[in-house]
Order: sequence, then C-alpha cells, then structure tokens
Amino acid sequence: MTLAARHYVGRFAPSPTGPLHAGSLVAALASWLDARAHAGRWLVRIEDVDRPRCIPGAAEQILRQLADCGLQPDAPPLWQSGRDGAYAEALAQLRLAGWAYPCGCSRRDVALLQTSTRQRFGELIYPGTCRDGLDGKSPRAMRLRTGHDGAAAIVDWCDRRLGPQQQNLATEVGDFVLQRADKLWAYQLAVVVDDAEQEISDVVRGEDLTDNTARQIHLQRLLGLPQPRYLHTPLVLGADGHKLSKQNQAETLDTQHPLAALTAAARTLGLPAIEATTTPDWLAAATRAWADRWLGTCPSGAVA
Ligand code: GLU
Repeated sequence: MTLAARHYVGRFAPSPTGPLHAGSLVAALASWLDARAHAGRWLVRIEDVDRPRCIPGAAEQILRQLADCGLQPDAPPLWQSGRDGAYAEALAQLRLAGWAYPCGCSRRDVALLQTSTRQRFGELIYPGTCRDGLDGKSPRAMRLRTGHDGAAAIVDWCDRRLGPQQQNLATEVGDFVLQRADKLWAYQLAVVVDDAEQEISDVVRGEDLTDNTARQIHLQRLLGLPQPRYLHTPLVLGADGHKLSKQNQAETLDTQHPLAALTAAARTLGLPAIEATTTPDWLAAATRAWADRWLGTCPSGAVA
C-alpha cells in the first residue's frame, strides 16, 4: 500500500507543564505538516497524566498558541486525565497475561540493589527483585516484565528519519513502571493506549523521545495494538547546548507573530526558506516542501 493511500492519522501530544515554546512548536509543526502532506487527519492529545507537574491553564494556552499558528486539530483534544479506566483495563490485561506485576521496592531499595553502572538517564535499572513475589513487602508500583528468565527482549524498529533502531529492553531498560507508587499512570502505558484509541498511524515527535519507542512498541505487541510508524524530529537546543525545555526555562513562544515562530521551527526541520505573507499561505507552501522531503520516505527509513 502506498503511504498516501493509507489512512493517515497524526497527533501532537503536549504535556501541559507550561506553555508552548520554540522546541515544542517544532514537534507540533512537523506532525501537522506530515498529516497534511499525507492528506490525513491531525489530532491533539493533552498528556496531563502527571497531575502534580501540570500547570492550570497551560493546556488552554497551548491550544491557543497552536491556533495562532494556524494549527487546528481535526477533532476536540483527548485529555489523558479522563482516561483512567482505559489505562486500568490495559494494565489488567497485562497482569492477566503475566506481564505486569506489583513491585514493593522503594527508590532507595532499588538504589541499594544496583550492581555499579546500571544507570541510564539518571534512572536506575530495576533488577527485577519483585518479579516472583513481594516477599512480604506492600505493593507500590506496577512494573512490566521485560523478557523471561534472562532471555533478551530485543525490539527492532525503523525511524523514518533516523533509520533502523534496536534496543534490548531486558538489559538496557529493565522492568519498567506502568503505574507509579502514587497510582499515577506512567507515560509509556498511557501513550500506547491513547495512540491506539486515536487510531494514530504516524507518530511524529521530538528526537528526545526516540529512546521510549522500543518500550511503546513492546507494549503495543503485548496488548495486541497496531504499531504506528515513527519519525523523530531534530531538537531546538538552548544556549547551554541542551534540549530547549520547560525545565531549562524555555521562553514562552510569541505567537502574536506566527510567521516568525513558524519560520524558526521550519529552519530546525531543515525546510527551505518559505516566502509567504499570511499564515495559511506559509503553511500551504511548507506542506509542499515537507511532502517533497518526506512523502517518498519508505518505512525502512531510506529515502526513495
Ligand atoms: N507528552 C510528551 C511531551 O510533551 C510527548 C509524548 C509523545 O509525543 O509521545 O514530551
């Protein structure tokens, strides 16, 4: 099936922990352009599962900023805070199949169990202590068993921009959290359940999220859900060389001047300079430029 003939649904999934900034506009614009270039639909999902980190009014501000830039979703946004039942069902399914288990370890317990270097991104790799029972501890988080009896859990997948990817979940990630000790749902579970609910065919998002993809594909397989295609976009770096984020005080995007904001985002995406005086004209020209670059990308990540 050609890409154009596929039923394309894309999405932008911001966490309302602050307003849109120059970095998040890149992901929003790329997902919008990819959807329009495929004559597909574009949806927005407000990822407000981590309630303590959400800022009141931020979601509404993000939606307003997107609208200022001409990026209007084709359906009302889906809010993760209203989706507890769906996440609980997915967790029950994984538990029934023996993939999810309660863990009674605190962060301190996990730290004490570490065998020296088993760390990634500052997070400790859980060594699987509670896999076979709580040993008298009270249940805290729910975790996903990655691989059986030391067997590798290798996920191969292909990014449309970055090419072939591989991750051994058992050794590189470990049994990861599905529901936290404070009962909040983990991003990995929520994103997989909701990408399926919204029938997302193509995930286009920032490159900092690439590392999560293998976990998400693994969960899709265990839950019998379809696997979208993935394209991870370049990031906007701050003055300190790190990804621009709300955590390093990225400035709120000025969407009173949408063409300036869109032009900067397009530059990060490697699109050619676009001559236009109105936002709709700019977006139409950018869609053509995006289609020239990405419509011929085959699923193996090579450019046709
Ligand atoms: N909510 C995530 C974020 O704002 C994005 C999740 C995704 O696109 O999968 O970083």
